Amino acid sequence: MSTPQESVQLSRRMASLNPYKPGEQPNDRNYIKLNANENPYPPSPDVVEEVVHFVQSNHKALALYADPESTKLRSEIAAMLYRTGGVLSRAKETASEGLSISGGLSPSGKDKLPYKVTKDMIYCGNGSDEVLSLAFYAFFDDVIVAPEHSYSFYPVYCGYYGVKRESVPLTIDWKIDIERMAKRATELNAPTILANPNAPTGAALKRDEIKWMIEHSPKDKVFMVDEAYVDFGGESSLPLIKDYENLCIVRTFSKSMCAAGMRLGYLVANEKMINAITTVKNSMNHFPVDAIAQVFGAASCRHDAYYAECARKVVQEREHFMQFLNGHGYKTPLSSANFVFTTKGKDNKGDWGRGAYRAIKENGILVRHFDTEGIEDYLRITIGTAEEMAALESAMERL
Ligand code: PMP
Repeated sequence: MSTPQESVQLSRRMASLNPYKPGEQPNDRNYIKLNANENPYPPSPDVVEEVVHFVQSNHKALALYADPESTKLRSEIAAMLYRTGGVLSRAKETASEGLSISGGLSPSGKDKLPYKVTKDMIYCGNGSDEVLSLAFYAFFDDVIVAPEHSYSFYPVYCGYYGVKRESVPLTIDWKIDIERMAKRATELNAPTILANPNAPTGAALKRDEIKWMIEHSPKDKVFMVDEAYVDFGGESSLPLIKDYENLCIVRTFSKSMCAAGMRLGYLVANEKMINAITTVKNSMNHFPVDAIAQVFGAASCRHDAYYAECARKVVQEREHFMQFLNGHGYKTPLSSANFVFTTKGKDNKGDWGRGAYRAIKENGILVRHFDTEGIEDYLRITIGTAEEMAALESAMERL
């Protein structure tokens, strides 16, 4: 008898797909999970209570389709971005009543936005992966310029949408090479995508560096900044949106908002770009954000003070861990994200990275190792709670 693969004809498109490989989720034992850059803290209990109340008191709401435009959620995101300046770990607490206070934040001086964010500047989707996918469809044609080592889903989308990726090497200290990126974008008259802070390195560009790149890249091509990790100390490019109409910024609830399982992401840009990506959405899936996620997301924005506190704890733990790494012979670029990129390897043959990953796993801890040329010797390690990091340090001391 023939197997289904032999008898069923698949599309030609299928043959060329090269899907993304996410961080492993084994269930052979209870691991400390430091391999997918999730937040070690749960969502705010006030947010959970609002969602439970919504489900219990609105059974009919689940029988009906959700708002396809996520209107309330977009308004709450806009208000939160304006209130905080878009970097939670630096946003200042203006009330002293503690974590459960909602909306008690104000931006640090350097993050203050020079304009009011409105919901018409926000598009919401089912995780920022989906937002990125629709943005690729809406904004990219033949070729894009991207850093050589960056979020590994970008090459996957390039394959999916038939866009060529011009990859630009990082500098020797693992930073995005802003001059080479802008030069290639200009030569190819191409759009740009980058993550800031970058993954898997954690290295961040200053807002002025992003501004310089935009000014030295094609003005009529989209410049996309993925700010998945910005809340852990990076500089957001949000203040630049009004000055550069080709700039769009992708953000997520999965990292600083403690909600990777909820699948919520968004794009911030001018209205024209929001209308374009909304048209793509309405051509693929009219309702990507379900009713519970919309209530959850809106409530999360109102409780931003809780998430700012979580982000600060992660940053503090990252700084402790950096001290440990520096004191134990590890090489680690400065990180502005909720993970670090580190090695004790000497010749970048990959042996150290793979071996260290395995040894750490034997201690019941998962970290991320990439089989990608040029970074095989490194581990990407998510910052967990103080207890999780203590367990990791004792495993890494023995390496
Ligand atoms: N951008 C970057 C740089 C990421 O590392 C990730 C998560 N791994 C994402 C986007 C996607 O996050 P999500 O789909 O959970 O919003």
